Amino acid sequence: MSDPSRPVPFLDLKAQQARIAADLRRRLDTVLEHCQFILGPEVRELEEALAAFCGAAHCVSVSSGTDALQIAMMAEGIGRGDAVFLPAFTYTATAEVPLLLGATPVFVDVDPRTFQIDPAHLQTRIEQTRAAGTLRPRAIIGVDLFGQPADWPALTDIAGRNGLFLLDDLAQSFGASLHGKMLGTQADATATSFFPSKPLGAYGDGGALFTESAERADLYRSLRTHGEGKTRYEVLRTGMNGRLDSIQAAVLLSKLTVFKDELAARERIAQAYDRRLGNAVVIPQRVPGSTSAWAIYAILVPDEGARDRLQASLRADGVPTAIYYPRPLHRQPAYAAQHDGASLPVAEDLATRILALPIHPDLTDHDVERICAAVLAAA
Ligand SMILES: *Cc1c(COP(=O)(O)O)cnc(C)c1O
Repeated sequence: MSDPSRPVPFLDLKAQQARIAADLRRRLDTVLEHCQFILGPEVRELEEALAAFCGAAHCVSVSSGTDALQIAMMAEGIGRGDAVFLPAFTYTATAEVPLLLGATPVFVDVDPRTFQIDPAHLQTRIEQTRAAGTLRPRAIIGVDLFGQPADWPALTDIAGRNGLFLLDDLAQSFGASLHGKMLGTQADATATSFFPSKPLGAYGDGGALFTESAERADLYRSLRTHGEGKTRYEVLRTGMNGRLDSIQAAVLLSKLTVFKDELAARERIAQAYDRRLGNAVVIPQRVPGSTSAWAIYAILVPDEGARDRLQASLRADGVPTAIYYPRPLHRQPAYAAQHDGASLPVAEDLATRILALPIHPDLTDHDVERICAAVLAAA
C-alpha cells in the first residue's frame, strides 16, 4: 500500500532489489569467492546474454555509456577536423565525446512530437557543413531518446548516401524495438549505458558496445584495455581503461532475469498515462512500428510558466517530476563556442515546455492513479 503522505518515488531501486534479492546475493557471493573482479566470468556471461537479448553478433562490455561512445569513435580514428552530427536535445555525453577526441559536434534539431533527431534537418546540416568547407563530415550519432528509437531507416539511408560512420547512442533505450527487432543492430555500432537509472541499470557505472563486425569488436576489446594486442604487454594503439567489473556484470545478469517483465510494466504505466492524461496535456507520440523502453515519460505543456506551476503543484501533492532537458546542448556554456549559430527552434522550444513524470516498474496502480489525479487537478 502506498502512504498518501509519502511522496511517490521518481525511481525505486530498493523495491526492485527486493524482487531479485536471492538471485542477486547468490551471484555476488560467487564473485566474492572467485575474486576475479575485473573481466571475470560474469562479464563474459553477460556479454553473451546481452548479444542474445538484442540479436547482435558481438557485445563488448565497457565501463560506462560515455566510454562506449568514446571507444566506438576512437576505433574509427575520429578526431581533429571531423564533424560529428548529433541531436541538440540529448544528454551531454553524446556531444562531449567527439569534443574530447578533438572533433566538432554539429547540432541537429529534433522532431517536435517524438523528440528524436530530425532526418531532414540532419541532411541539411551535412550539406551546410560540406559547403562551409572547414570540417570533414565523418559520423552521425543517432540517439534513441527517452526509451524510443530514432528513425533508423532514414538515418541509415543518410549515412550511406554521405559515406558517414553511423553510431547508435542507445543509453536510454536498451530494450526498445523497431519493426520487431530489438535495438542494438541498427547502426555500424551501438553504445549503451548501465547507469543505475537507465532501463537496465547496474549498481555503479557500466556500458556495452554492440556491432555486427568482428573487426570492430576486436578493436573495442583492445581499446578498453589500453590498446593491448594478443598478449597483455603488447601495446598496439592508444587505448583507455574502459573495462566492466564482475560485480556490475553479476548485478546486470540478475536484473536481466526480470527485465522483460519490467519493460511490460513500464508499457502498462505509459498506456495508463496516455489514457488518463491525453486530453489534458500533450502526451509523447509513439514512433511508428516501435516499442519503447520508457526510460522517461515526458509530457508537453503550453509554456514555461505553465510548467513551473504544474511542477510546483505536483510537488505539493507528493509527485516528483524532472526536466530533461532544461537547455539544448548548443546553449550550454561548454558547447556554445562550438556551435555555428544555426537555429534549432524545436530543441529550444522543447526545453521550455517538457516535463517528465515518474515511470518505473515498481510504481503501484495506486501511485499511477495518484499521479494522474494530481496532473488533471493542476493542468
Ligand atoms: C546516460 C547517457 C549517456 C552516458 O551514459 P553513462 O553510462 O552515464 O556514461 C550517453 N548518452 C545518453 C543519451 C545518455 O542518456
